[in-house]
Amino acid sequence: MRCAGSCCATAVRMASTPAMKRSMAVAVPSTLGSKSVSSITSSSSNALVCSTRTFAKPSAVQGPITNSKEGTYVSTEIIVDMSQALGGQYARGMFAKRDMAYGREILNIPAFLMYIGDEPQREQVLILTKEVFSKLVLNHPDKKFIEARILTMASGGFSYFTRERDVQEFAETVKIPNSFKTGADYLQAGEYGTFDLQKLPLILDFNRWDVEYRGRKGICIFPEAQYFNHQCDANVEISISYSKSKENFVLSARTIKPIQAGEELFINYLPGNTLPLSRLSLALRKRWGFECTCVVCKSRAIGAVTVIFVAVCLPFAIFMRSVYVARMDSKQRGL
Ligand SMILES: [Zn+2]
Repeated sequence: MRCAGSCCATAVRMASTPAMKRSMAVAVPSTLGSKSVSSITSSSSNALVCSTRTFAKPSAVQGPITNSKEGTYVSTEIIVDMSQALGGQYARGMFAKRDMAYGREILNIPAFLMYIGDEPQREQVLILTKEVFSKLVLNHPDKKFIEARILTMASGGFSYFTRERDVQEFAETVKIPNSFKTGADYLQAGEYGTFDLQKLPLILDFNRWDVEYRGRKGICIFPEAQYFNHQCDANVEISISYSKSKENFVLSARTIKPIQAGEELFINYLPGNTLPLSRLSLALRKRWGFECTCVVCKSRAIGAVTVIFVAVCLPFAIFMRSVYVARMDSKQRGL
């Protein structure tokens, strides 16, 4: 995600490849309230200190978003494409392939990754990091999907690992069943680089969707929904709700305006916010590394300048004029 006018905003987008045509049926691993993975950070979390803030570009993937999981839906009327208007070779966006009416549902997808718990958010990100890394190491059926859809997403935020040794220690927490090997051996074999593992929590953090269930906070990853760019005046609205039958969160995206073929689809990354322009700009930059330059923000900026002019410059001009008039009067009286 996602400003209409920022390459960093491309952060949240990606596209499918032939490798992704596999079923999403194996793609929902998370467990509501599960504690099975919550212990993974205990040995490594002390060493994980946020330090630097980085933003990375996603891979240049594009095309249709395929999804064959039963009960989920991705409209064939949308496509991920490079957006020249955004600038930059990696600037992706979601586009309409044909005209769409108001209220059209274009996505209805379960979370690929989900975690709900009492841990701080950064620890939850690490729990999901462990889950994803484990699947890579253990050659889980999700591996190709993760490589194609998760690892190609943009990353950003504050680093979770300060030293290479921290990454190694984290990798060691992934144990290979019936073996003395761990994820660290996987790194040393060169199958997955230390840098890549260092980047993984940044990918998940950057693309997370914050959710809440019965008073507990959590995070979800919806890979198919990560291509939308941001505009304050969006033409697509996202809603996320918990499905009891699926035991997972489900994201639905609907058009909220009539859309023409070729038009880019935008969502509002901070829907319903009433932030002043300066704070909105700060919030977007802090989380996603861009400042919104949409029409709404531009008009708000012009409005703010006008207010400053009326409130400060105009009274000053009136004052200066009165001083000038007074001086002219006194000059005329002197004559
Ligand atoms: Zn805006």
